[in-house]
Amino acid sequence: MSYEQRKGWGRGRGGRGGRGGRGFSSHHEGGSSSEGARERPPPHLRGRALGMWYARRQGPKSKERERLERAVVRMDESREQQITRLLNSVQAESKDVKQEPCSESSWWATENERNAAPPDIKLPVDIVKDAWDDDDDEKFSESAYGLSRVNASLDRRLKEELQDKTTDYRYLEMQRFREKLPSYSMKEEIIKMVERNQVTVISGETGCGKTTQVTQFILDDYINRGKGSACHIVCTQPRRISAISVAERVAAERAEPCGEGHSTGYQIRLQCQLPRKQGSILYCTTGIVLQWLQSDHQLTSVSHIVLDEVHERNLQSDMLMAVVKDLLKCRPDLKVMLMSATLNAEKFSQYFEGCPMLHIPGLTFPVKEYLLEDVYEMVKFSPKDSDCRPRTNRRFMQGRTTRPEKAEKEEIYRERFPGYLRQLQGQYSESTVRAVEYTDDEKVNLELIVELIRHIVLKREDGAILVFLPGWDTISTLNDLLMAQVMFKSDRFIIIPLHSLMPTVNQTQECITIDDVVHVIDGGKLKETNYDTQNNIRTMTAEWVSHANAKQRKGRAGRVKPGYCYHLYNKLRESLLDDYQLPEIVRTPLEELCLHIKILNLGGIATFLSKVMDPPLRAAIILAITHLMEMNALDRHEELTPLGFHLARLPVEPHIGKMILFGALFCCLDPVLTVAASLSFKDPFVIPLGKEKLADMKRKELSQNTKSDHLTALNAFQGWESAKKWGPRAEREYCWDHFLSSNTLKMLGDMKGQFAEHLLGAGFVSSSSPKDPKSNINSGNEKLIKAVLCAGLYPKVAKIRMNHKKNKTSVKVYTKADGKVSIHPKSVNVEETEFHHHWLVYHLKMKTSSIFLYDCTEVSPYSLLFFGGDISIQKDQDQDTIAVDEWIVFQSPARIAHLVKNLKTELDSLLKEKIENPQPVDWNDTKSRDCAVLLAIIDLITTQESGQAKNFNPSFPGRLF
Ligand code: ADP
Ligand code: MG
Repeated sequence: MSYEQRKGWGRGRGGRGGRGGRGFSSHHEGGSSSEGARERPPPHLRGRALGMWYARRQGPKSKERERLERAVVRMDESREQQITRLLNSVQAESKDVKQEPCSESSWWATENERNAAPPDIKLPVDIVKDAWDDDDDEKFSESAYGLSRVNASLDRRLKEELQDKTTDYRYLEMQRFREKLPSYSMKEEIIKMVERNQVTVISGETGCGKTTQVTQFILDDYINRGKGSACHIVCTQPRRISAISVAERVAAERAEPCGEGHSTGYQIRLQCQLPRKQGSILYCTTGIVLQWLQSDHQLTSVSHIVLDEVHERNLQSDMLMAVVKDLLKCRPDLKVMLMSATLNAEKFSQYFEGCPMLHIPGLTFPVKEYLLEDVYEMVKFSPKDSDCRPRTNRRFMQGRTTRPEKAEKEEIYRERFPGYLRQLQGQYSESTVRAVEYTDDEKVNLELIVELIRHIVLKREDGAILVFLPGWDTISTLNDLLMAQVMFKSDRFIIIPLHSLMPTVNQTQECITIDDVVHVIDGGKLKETNYDTQNNIRTMTAEWVSHANAKQRKGRAGRVKPGYCYHLYNKLRESLLDDYQLPEIVRTPLEELCLHIKILNLGGIATFLSKVMDPPLRAAIILAITHLMEMNALDRHEELTPLGFHLARLPVEPHIGKMILFGALFCCLDPVLTVAASLSFKDPFVIPLGKEKLADMKRKELSQNTKSDHLTALNAFQGWESAKKWGPRAEREYCWDHFLSSNTLKMLGDMKGQFAEHLLGAGFVSSSSPKDPKSNINSGNEKLIKAVLCAGLYPKVAKIRMNHKKNKTSVKVYTKADGKVSIHPKSVNVEETEFHHHWLVYHLKMKTSSIFLYDCTEVSPYSLLFFGGDISIQKDQDQDTIAVDEWIVFQSPARIAHLVKNLKTELDSLLKEKIENPQPVDWNDTKSRDCAVLLAIIDLITTQESGQAKNFNPSFPGRLF
């Protein structure tokens, strides 16, 4: 059972209309008894079209209900007068100053301005301190690193130092270990190849010594040739933790401390131990190099760049590869090495115009592989009746996958399956053939895994067993199944569930590399996130592994001695597996990447993206650019606007960046930075197995009835800060009691510091401390904080609709693009039935078994009016309304609607000025226009909470006002 299903949010198969997975089957309930038989949607309808079908069907009755239920925007008389006076004076003032009347468009620019060339941008001080800032008298030219940096006395010193090591006992002992690595025997070859070629690809099995040795070979060669100062190697890692551990390992092998100006160090976001600038190796995350590129387009401080683990194909490494490829022309002296697993080395070589490749043979032991049919035969397993389904009814994965190629493969599989079964007959027992025939491909068979584990324990060689499963639910269920077996209760067995949401991962980060794995069970599936450009939604589904994944999983069995790998898919399926997983760049929204391309001056977005190894879909590029234009981060010529410029500098995605800027402008910095950090990294909650309910309760408690996941994370963070003041023990207890990860909380704290430094550098605040009182004048104002979250997250808005039937209230949630969606079970709002307002903002929406909002916060009409999209004033029959982007509609007397709209126009022009010319707001100068406008808005958001229409909800009359 999945986490979603446990809480009753499952797929709802067999629901009315048979399309429970879409979540539309019980779309409207109000007055449904009179409707009689339900009409079903035409079967060809999918996605948005299906939503439209239901929307049209909603009929006039529910339209009328919706009209009457609209919240009323209120303003008491004294405020009304005050705002009228304010607007009069401000407008009189602005007539003196400006020629043109204020724009009525969005806050950043008028239509004309949007179309014009970008305004001059005041460049903020460069606050990302370049690790290689020059502080001495060395002069070096634009490119040629080696020639310009040569320093003869340093060369001599480095050489002597290296020679001295040959008498160092620790160094020699390490040397003996290093000599046994497969890479060692290829040392000369590697050095020669790198010297003769600008780009090389080095491949080899995990553990053969690519990451730790190749860099040292090159450095030591330079030093021995008396040219040490001309060598500065940078090696990029996809993960923070590996950058640190590898650097520490290499430093230890060289019998030196890590960093502190020695030969080896690391740099990751928010943490570094830098080596000396010359004659050294730096391990860093890919993101760090991308960051340097902002201030040093040619990476002038680097002589060799090693892109490690390129086969993982993550977004940043694909991007850096493309940048480096371009860089080769203007840095002919720069050496580039790509290091990858064995499987696809050729692809990288082709990308770099057929550069030479070198393969380091592995030192791994043979691993015997079994497929599903072998496993059935081995454990004599026959699926339970409940698992059996006649083949005709079999749910193939087709239709649930977002990739057309995958659907095609399913088709082929289906065609070939009968023939394949015939092949099995005779080779395998009858019960195995039957088991293969009746296997449900859609889920990983956990009962089979339990049987297999029992079999291995009882009948096969001793050693650790590593099981690969797709996601939290399956790990959790298998854990339960194993614990239910008497056999595994003994001390002989330790079961360690590993998942990023489970606390074990945080606590045992270092010991995840279990050394004595002999048996690997490959469940055959992995959770893959994807981006459905047609419906503009992220998806996450369990997909078949690729050959590359399977090979990597298998490899884990042969580290210490010969091992065994059990793949839980049959031979036919194996023949249809993809060679590799799709690279991240074609599976993910591209907004942040587009901003990066612009800030690095890499030219046109589409042109640059056409140069990456596997270019993303055109539709995805267009969507990203359109979103950025809608956010006014890019202008019509695809150039950065002032806002876009600030968003590109902040190391977060654009919506979160906007939230941060608003937090600074509205002086509620500290809490907003906490939320921003938790959205861009991860929230601090963990869910220990078996304690899901308790963890849910604790989160609900921490939410303090804010109806907000974001404020729940904030409360958790603030509670942690207070607990810390009482010492480490209190801190540990607090985290334990509230199911929090103190590592994550610490990371969030560090990130907040980094954001604040960016803001200081750009001029939005006057201190680098998130807690500076001057940046936090309004930090106690919860309603304002929610409004700022709305400013960042807009237009990710969902509408709540309540149904009161007898004594039961049910809540349904809708978005403009998807129709009905669900609140994720992990959200504190999942079972909430009492909301103050009927609008939510959210950050992550993802389609798994249905479309879920993973996090959300209830927001008020004034938040949406001031911080949402364009405002329009209309009449709906006899009802005066004010609407945001024509979708979010409130009742409001025309008089008040006009006041709100005019005030918003003032806010927009003020914000525009602040973004173009950042400086903190002076809250003491209450007579200034800025201050008066901001205070009026904050006052409205805080005191004039609008209520639902009176006739809306008779059961909660008092609560809504
Ligand atoms: P590759 O990059 O080819 O996978 P590495 O250079 O990372 O290989 O590792 C080579 C060998 O060095 C490994 O097989 C392991 O024995 C040893 N090693 C690497 N990192 C560490 C470490 N942090 N602690 C101890 N040994 C390590
Ligand atoms: Mg490596």
